[in-house]
Amino acid sequence: MANMQPNKTPMPEQEANVRNANFQEVALGYTLEQAQNEAQRCLHCKNRPCVGGCPVGIPIPDFIAKVAEGDIAAAYQILSDANALPAISGRVCPQETQCEGKCVRGIKGEPVAIGRLERFVADWAAEHGLANVATAPKNGRKVAVIGSGPAGLTCAGELARMGYSVSVFEAFHTAGGVLSYGIPEFRLPKAIVAREVSNLEKMGVDIELNMVIGKVLTIPELFDMGYEAVFIGSGAGLPMFMKIPGESLVGVYSANEYLTRINLMKAYQPESETPILHGKKVVVVGGGNVAMDAARCAKRMGAEVHIVYRRSEAELPARAEEVHHAKEEGIVFDLLTNPVSIEGDEQGHVQSITCIRMELGEPDASGRRRPVVVEGSEFKMEADTVIMALGTKPNPMSYEGTPGLDKSPKGCVAADERGCTSCPNIFAGGDAATGAATVILAMGAGKHAAKSIDEYLKSKVSV
Ligand code: FAD
Ligand code: SF4
Repeated sequence: MANMQPNKTPMPEQEANVRNANFQEVALGYTLEQAQNEAQRCLHCKNRPCVGGCPVGIPIPDFIAKVAEGDIAAAYQILSDANALPAISGRVCPQETQCEGKCVRGIKGEPVAIGRLERFVADWAAEHGLANVATAPKNGRKVAVIGSGPAGLTCAGELARMGYSVSVFEAFHTAGGVLSYGIPEFRLPKAIVAREVSNLEKMGVDIELNMVIGKVLTIPELFDMGYEAVFIGSGAGLPMFMKIPGESLVGVYSANEYLTRINLMKAYQPESETPILHGKKVVVVGGGNVAMDAARCAKRMGAEVHIVYRRSEAELPARAEEVHHAKEEGIVFDLLTNPVSIEGDEQGHVQSITCIRMELGEPDASGRRRPVVVEGSEFKMEADTVIMALGTKPNPMSYEGTPGLDKSPKGCVAADERGCTSCPNIFAGGDAATGAATVILAMGAGKHAAKSIDEYLKSKVSV
């Protein structure tokens, strides 16, 4: 008999007023009893709508059934056969629009907390020394992966499982992509990213750090080295700015730079030598997950933080949970507000930001109501730091100049539905191919591309 409790089993978490001054993880994870209670809410629907909502196709009701039985090792086997990074996706995937968005329990109450159960199972496995690192015998064929974000890591893991020798080339000194340099410690502890990367290494995946493809080696050189296919998973790391006066003042950061200094370069640790401005009044421009992460980091660094966003709360693109957490932690939301200029002092440091009020007009091409300027409504806000979280574009460095490789009008690698590009031996996925995705979409693209690479290489005689 299913547990018909309408709401999810609550997730234990740090108190808002405590956590907004530390970088430890906000959510603390389920106990076995809480996980079993939640797992018993699953109805084991015959048509499994939740599975259809998962880009990596996890057999969700099957692993949940094992949790309900208390056989967590079996749950981990099912989960990790389908998903190379379960502790990560359990924490940061937008489940509300993926698996949980399709869950029938969501019709009359809250959906089954699939993400929380996934996290529980992955953490339990790590605590009990389990790692699903079995691979097929080596088939003697080599594939290169550019970038170690969720797209590259998933592609590498899938190929390693099939018996390929895979090398991942990563520009940074640490693997993980956005998981390491973007998403803060308090949402995704870096020890967990390192653990998932280490599981891939146990599968034989070779991770080459500090290797900027396009500079140290080019894609044609990778083919000369005997790699028979290349997967481009180089993400979308180029920040965008508003092109308003004052954006070159000291104290204006792109969210990417601010978060990289804090997360990858550990500027939040007292002993860190990474330079960062400890702003007293920080304005973050934007309303997505990146804006929430930057704002919540600035708060933990001791600032009063305002989010300035040009539309209303209903249009905020960030996950509802992130907005909720940011509000609880004391971030101020200045909605229907848009910056027009940033002003500095004689030394060129940010002193204030001038904004204008907006109202919502008719829907635009995205279907969201267009923000319209309220004439004459300019006002000034005091600020010593401004963080621009307006979105990013792919950095074409790894693939620019590669003969025969098409780019999309957005500058992404032109990829078809198989994750392939115009070159038969080059494949692309994640943000490099779409410009802006999510962790789970990047993982889905990496998994998809691994299948395409396998089909392509099987159709071709080994060199
Ligand atoms: P990335 O994660 O960007 O990884 C690309 C990797 O390629 C990087 O490590 C980069 O250094 C490397 N690289 C780039 N160029 C080269 C080169 N020339 N040579 C070698 N290596 C190279 N999504 C969610 O689902 N949930 C969230 O909560 C969420 N929060 C986010 C928070 C932030 C701050 C950001 C920035 C993004 C967030 N996203 C979130 C989006 C998600 O992280 C991305 O969609 C996802 O990481 C894309 O994966 P990827 O593998 O394509 O690229
Ligand atoms: Fe269980 Fe929800 Fe999936 Fe149905 S849709 S099988 S209730 S998780």
